[in-house]
Amino acid sequence: MTAQLIDGNALSKQLRAEVAIRAAKLTEKGITPGLAVILVGENPASQVYVRNKVKACQDAGLHSVLEKYPATMTEAELLARVEALNNDPTIHGILVQLPLPKHIDDHKVIESISPLKDVDGFHVASAGALMVGEPGFKACTPYGCMKMLESIGYDLRGKHAVVIGRSNIVGKPMAMMLLQSSATVTICHSATPDLAYHTRQADVVVAAVGKRNVLTADMVKPGAVVIDVGMNRDDEGKLCGDVDFVGVKEVASWITPVPGGVGPMTITMLLVNTIEAAERL
Ligand code: NAP
Repeated sequence: MTAQLIDGNALSKQLRAEVAIRAAKLTEKGITPGLAVILVGENPASQVYVRNKVKACQDAGLHSVLEKYPATMTEAELLARVEALNNDPTIHGILVQLPLPKHIDDHKVIESISPLKDVDGFHVASAGALMVGEPGFKACTPYGCMKMLESIGYDLRGKHAVVIGRSNIVGKPMAMMLLQSSATVTICHSATPDLAYHTRQADVVVAAVGKRNVLTADMVKPGAVVIDVGMNRDDEGKLCGDVDFVGVKEVASWITPVPGGVGPMTITMLLVNTIEAAERL
């Protein structure tokens, strides 16, 4: 079997076009949906991420403000900026790019964002809403993975999903979203003694680890759907995921590529959350 690709670029294009239509409708009513992105410091990867996020917003007709601050910014100064944006009626979504410099408490800053503007979905209120099945902003990466499953018409009800990774921004919310779709969910992590034992039973595997070749063909049940969240570099410096793509695609029924899979979907769901934030007003 050679797996079919779940094309994150194509799906993103479609979803971003829908966002653009919604943005145009709001703009006609005098509300231009606005996203503020805060970057503190000079982390090169973060600079690329924020640039891509701001450009994606602008391309979809959203208003986007990028605020860049030196790594010397104090925590109090950053909290004051977030508070000002919380009270700014032209801004509907606030994103503080992580990681922050070591002297600033990430958690404290994320918790200072109004849950009404928490378009990254990282606030405890957003995580709690997901946990209890109430409306709230969903973390963009797992939300994007769910959209990818939806795009292939995959019915998760009664399926066994294995999530590899338990971070607050990917693994845990991913598991909650799969559970909400009535999958039976197993969460694996670095202390899981026999990862392959679990993944071999899975109808769906989501790999969110950050290590190459965490999932190889012998660990995948024939016909499984494989979603690769990982972003790593191979020996030649090329972007690759957590999954041994070449091997696993011969066993799986559907697979997401890296690049061109989950990555573009993450930014797309940020746009979706921002438009939702503006529409809720
Ligand atoms: P993270 O916070 O470092 O979490 C990694 C998780 O993997 C942890 O829960 C860890 O377990 C687990 N783990 C580590 N080694 C393992 C092993 N050998 N077997 C099983 N589990 C193992 O990373 P993250 O923020 O969730 O991100 C994960 C990956 O996704 C990274 O490559 C990141 O760059 C990528 N990512 C991509 C996007 C995108 O848009 N494509 C967005 C976000 C993240 P413990 O909890 O026990 O330490």
